[in-house]
Amino acid sequence: MAEIMVVAEHREGELREITLQMLHKAAQLSGERGHQTAVVLLGSGLEGLVDQVRDRTDTVVVYDDSRLEHFDPGLHAEILAALIAQRAPLLTLLGHTPWSMDLAPALAVKTGYPLATDCVDILLEGDRAKAVRQIYNGKIFARMAFRDSAGYLATLRAGAFPAAERARSLAEIVRPALPALSLPATREFLGYEETGKGEVDIAQADLLVSVGRGIGEEDNIAPARELAGLLGGTLSCSRPIVDKRWLPKYHQVGTSGKSVRPKVYLALGISGAFQHVAGLNGTGTIIAVNKDKKAPIFRVAQYGAVTDVPALLTALRTEAAKQS
Ligand SMILES: Cc1cc2nc3c(=O)[nH]c(=O)nc-3n(C[C@H](O)[C@H](O)[C@H](O)COP(=O)(O)OP(=O)(O)OC[C@H]3O[C@@H](n4cnc5c(N)ncnc54)[C@H](O)[C@@H]3O)c2cc1C
Repeated sequence: MAEIMVVAEHREGELREITLQMLHKAAQLSGERGHQTAVVLLGSGLEGLVDQVRDRTDTVVVYDDSRLEHFDPGLHAEILAALIAQRAPLLTLLGHTPWSMDLAPALAVKTGYPLATDCVDILLEGDRAKAVRQIYNGKIFARMAFRDSAGYLATLRAGAFPAAERARSLAEIVRPALPALSLPATREFLGYEETGKGEVDIAQADLLVSVGRGIGEEDNIAPARELAGLLGGTLSCSRPIVDKRWLPKYHQVGTSGKSVRPKVYLALGISGAFQHVAGLNGTGTIIAVNKDKKAPIFRVAQYGAVTDVPALLTALRTEAAKQS
């Protein structure tokens, strides 16, 4: 029986959603193959986080030390490499996040294990792992084999899996001593800065009318805002709209914007790039409007219309005004 290990990610005492998504994938693979799962927590003052994961895995490995209070990829890689050498997990999962983009390559070098990044799925065939990744801007899913190895590393894309259920009995908790650290801390922590504080909080909205590059021109922001108001919703957008300075940053949905969970998300002229869709995890119903029937947003939408957004905006606004 092999082990599938998840490297937990957390910030300011909160477990990041990606950790629960990785635990879902780990539980799925372990269920299929009869493997064990373990989650590794590194940080300081971790007891609250241990409670959040201990009924979703078989083992929780905890390194609770003031030197680990702030993420330092050098220190984390050293500790994880020692742990991997000791536990020899078949597969180690990390999030495809800025945090792990710093950590995973160093870990691959230290362990000698092959690494696949930005995976939307992982398959195990016996002791061989395969990674599923998107190529050509999300239009094609490619299945890629790792080279033969005793263990594999993969970073998983946020939003590719649902959060793990609290379905298990309580995990065994292991608290190994920190290995002797050869590296000094390489980073100085200055503080956290939240993105997107502003007049509206899209993260709290039940209904979002969200505009992307497909709205065509800045003049179409006003009718979209009006439509959102008439529907009792809030206006949000994709990143190009912020880059063009048509809306402030606090309207942006996605990995470098905000994560939202509205009951209804109306995506107007948004292609559905993964950086955008990753911010929609937990959204109720997604309705997409796009002139390209092959746009990736239709893969995640429950309802869709293939039509011209500016024309539809005018029609919807007229209809909503009649109803109000
Ligand atoms: C590190 C990094 C972080 C990022 N973070 C984010 C993020 O947080 N949020 C985010 O949104 N993006 C983010 N991005 C950018 C992301 O990769 C995409 O480029 C972006 O989401 C695309 O926005 P879009 O869908 O509005 O535009 P496009 O991808 O250009 O799509 C426009 C869509 O509109 C459709 N369209 C065009 N004209 C019409 C019409 N007349 N009627 C109907 N449909 C029409 C097109 O068919 C197309 O599907 C990030 C990128 C990087 C590299």
